[in-house]
Amino acid sequence: MLKYHRILRGILSGNLRRRPYRLNVSLTNLCDSRCKTCDIWQIYPQKRLPLREELTQDEFQSIFRRLPSSVMWVSFSGGEPHLRKDFCGIMESSFRDIRNIAMVNVPNNGIKADRCVNDWKRLLAIRRRPFVYITMSLDGEGAVHDEVRGVEGNYESAVAAFEEIDALCKQHGNAAIGIGLTISKFNFDRIMPFVHQVIDKGISLKIEAADSGDLYYQGQDADERPDLEHEGIRDVISEIYALQNKRQWKWSSPIDFLTRNHVRGALRFLDNPEKLVIPCRAAHSNYAIDCYGNVNPCFFFTTGLGNVRKYDYDLCRLLESQRKKVQKAQQTIKDGKCPRCWHVCNSIDSMIDRKLRKPWTLFNV
Ligand code: SF4
Ligand code: SF4
Repeated sequence: MLKYHRILRGILSGNLRRRPYRLNVSLTNLCDSRCKTCDIWQIYPQKRLPLREELTQDEFQSIFRRLPSSVMWVSFSGGEPHLRKDFCGIMESSFRDIRNIAMVNVPNNGIKADRCVNDWKRLLAIRRRPFVYITMSLDGEGAVHDEVRGVEGNYESAVAAFEEIDALCKQHGNAAIGIGLTISKFNFDRIMPFVHQVIDKGISLKIEAADSGDLYYQGQDADERPDLEHEGIRDVISEIYALQNKRQWKWSSPIDFLTRNHVRGALRFLDNPEKLVIPCRAAHSNYAIDCYGNVNPCFFFTTGLGNVRKYDYDLCRLLESQRKKVQKAQQTIKDGKCPRCWHVCNSIDSMIDRKLRKPWTLFNV
């Protein structure tokens, strides 16, 4: 069961002691997909960054052991996390070594279905662990998904992996799997039948508008990036919002409450991407650590606060030593001069902190 007391303790101590309570951690830039909405998969084939410099399992463990007790939520990402041979070891360390851990999220692309299923078989069987939320990325049904993701047969393998992991979550409890749907100009006009199917089956659905930021498109021209101004994307998100509001989200669930507000925020962001939807809490409640140990306010605003390797893997020591850089980043974000986005990596804690500071925004984004 979700340990709400840990979540609350993390949020309060993070806000009172000015320490992060949520981290976004990239495990690897290895990826076996060929997505149109992201070019992380091209990093190593194009030799843009060195694979051998990725953090080792021992280094991740050192980072986890030194995190402040406010950190209660870690969202892992990649690349495709399951491509790391030591994926289970890193997860086990996060479960065990992060003192106040209450929740971890991990995405899967479902290409290597057997590997994902075997990893979760081992990990979900651990009795003392935080709540685990697994996202299976599915960008449409059948051919639509395979076309956007560039891998024939990926839809089939992802659905097979989803079903097996779903059964494991139900068997072991304290875990859930949902579908992560990225909406872009490549699929927006063909996803509604898929969305209806997912909702009919009662499967948790998390939607996101594709982002065109440098995290996903380091090497490509602006023309090739997803186009947020595409009118149809907003209309489809609005249609999905109405559907989920009516048929999926429960008012009694705090997670549904935040998810609903996240989608409302996405609509607002699409109305005016020049403006932050609400004050962003990156570089306050939330930091991003990439797979080489670089720390940034978020994965989209890479100001280069420092590398944990140089600070004995101690995130707080790094932030303390680089206080001026942190303050400068905070000011830039406050002024809305960061790359600006509305992404679940940062929107949830930004909404939580806003409601803490301004309780009258409870029913707003
Ligand atoms: S979206 Fe995920 S699966 Fe697709 S290329 Fe990027 S990291 Fe790989
Ligand atoms: S608004 Fe987006 S880009 Fe700007 S700091 Fe927040 S998460 Fe990063």
